[in-house]
Amino acid sequence: MHASQKIVHPRIAVLSERVRNQIAAGEVIERPASVVKELVENAIDAGATAVRVDLEEGGAQLVRVSDDGSGMAQEDLRLAFVAHATSKLFEVDDLDHIGSLGFRGEALASMGAIARCSIVTRTRASETGWKIECAGAAISEPREAGAPVGTTVEVRELFYNVPARRRFLKTTATELGRALDVVQRIALAHEGIGFTVTHDGKRVFDVEANMDLLARIRRTFGADLSDALVRVDGRDGDVRLSGYVAPPRFARGDTARQMWFLNSRTVRDKVLVRALKDSYKGFLFDSRQPVAFLSLSMDPAKVDVNVHPAKSDVRFREERRLFGFIVNTLREAVRTCDMATPGARLVERAVEREARALPFSGSIAAHYPPLGASSHVREREPLRVVDVPRPAGTAPPTPVASDEVRGPFLQVARTYIVRPLGDGFEIVDQHALHERIQFESLVAEMRRGRIETQRLLVPELVELSRAEVSALEPHLEQLSGIGIELAAFGATTIAVHGLPARLARPRPKDIVHAVLAAIEGARALEPEQLMEDVLHRAACRSSVMAGDVLSDEEMRSLLVRGKSLVSDQTCVHGRPTRVRFVGADLERAFERR
Ligand code: ADP
Ligand code: MG
Repeated sequence: MHASQKIVHPRIAVLSERVRNQIAAGEVIERPASVVKELVENAIDAGATAVRVDLEEGGAQLVRVSDDGSGMAQEDLRLAFVAHATSKLFEVDDLDHIGSLGFRGEALASMGAIARCSIVTRTRASETGWKIECAGAAISEPREAGAPVGTTVEVRELFYNVPARRRFLKTTATELGRALDVVQRIALAHEGIGFTVTHDGKRVFDVEANMDLLARIRRTFGADLSDALVRVDGRDGDVRLSGYVAPPRFARGDTARQMWFLNSRTVRDKVLVRALKDSYKGFLFDSRQPVAFLSLSMDPAKVDVNVHPAKSDVRFREERRLFGFIVNTLREAVRTCDMATPGARLVERAVEREARALPFSGSIAAHYPPLGASSHVREREPLRVVDVPRPAGTAPPTPVASDEVRGPFLQVARTYIVRPLGDGFEIVDQHALHERIQFESLVAEMRRGRIETQRLLVPELVELSRAEVSALEPHLEQLSGIGIELAAFGATTIAVHGLPARLARPRPKDIVHAVLAAIEGARALEPEQLMEDVLHRAACRSSVMAGDVLSDEEMRSLLVRGKSLVSDQTCVHGRPTRVRFVGADLERAFERR
């Protein structure tokens, strides 16, 4: 062995600065959108009130960001492309209270290493502007150039000298989409600053400086969404949570329309995403993500933003408390959303689906319809209640007057109840509504203290696996607090002694399995959330099912009870419970307008 072993000379060498910069650059700059993010943030840090972004080829060919901010003096300009040169941080201590968006002094140096860059800038105090260039990390001397006050940074031919990275870029449409997304997020976070984006000379987005958050959302995503949003405003000590949540029907398969702003910095943080998701529990399918625009403000010392060079992850000092506060605040807002699915929306969806099936026109405009025109602009229909004339001298009707629910009722396919409204009709999913009613009343009872139990005359025995029985055991006491009385009966059997009295059709075996499913799916949940989940599932399995024939009186009583709920409009899994066709929906459906 030894004799034949070749001697390999160690060849460790210190990387040249050029290569080092290219490697470091990869951490900060992944694609045109990262260039856009860094440059726009610099403009904001410089106090700009108007920021313009010009892109070519999705930003791969050119990203140019112009601002009317402070500008740089000639001697500062020399340092702009030098790594770890920043005007925003002097002491390590400053890391604890960062107020600016940038602070690492890496962005411009990185761009200088992997693109052909230039800066033209002028301060208010200076007679003339100055220009500097940097390509492949070679920095030119500043020279005089005419310029307005402010700064314009150009980044051309991104990755021209790193072919492997350049090949990695996606289509123009994809890169443009990401770049736009970056600007839109930043624009939503910065009321008081105007933004304009052009692509290959065409304007693709703009918001004016004086537009507030809601107006910005409307401009970015359309009136259909912005009109349906519900305001959030909560406070816990010095922590404030404000913004808007959207009704569950706007939910999507991804988190792209969730915007979190932390002290005006856009963040994408797992804890925040999870808190938002939790607050829609019972209103959304598990696989769907809500839409929301939320802003958290807190003492910068309570949060660490320096986790990752791209600076979007954060670490909270009092994470648990914050989580609870966020979920509670949002949940209140979510409950007050208008949940009914407007019939017009179904019609729109059908039309969109048809349009998608048509041959693709191929232009970018097809990917990005004019911003602000999210296909349909429609005023939201307020929830209608039929006005019942009442004889003089009688007391005003209670909010749950049963006259509000007027027949005739028609059961369709043994699953849906159709009933007339003043200017249209409504289709109700009988199972979904019943489930919601049972769940809401159980939760209300739970919050009042204890859920009333109906003891079974003869305990029902349910056969389980050993593992299932031992999974149940630690929860038995808590379960009895919500009216589910179980006891181990040997190693593989559970005896059901009692169930919540409110359940209309309790099926002991189904409920044991509901409890197991909840425990299975909920390892990280707080005990109270786990119990709520159990109630969800129990309500689902003890409700009128699709296929059950209902009498007139049963339909009426279901609808009357539904009326008294805050949120009877989705089932606990987030499916809609009712679809409503009123005036405007019918007009759309029949193309009368
Ligand atoms: P950072 O933003 O982390 O400080 P950058 O590399 O992004 O690092 O920028 C380096 C420095 O260049 C900044 O600290 C700032 O002084 C200056 N600078 C960059 N962009 C602008 C701008 N648009 N207006 C004024 N100064 C700027
Ligand atoms: Mg910066």
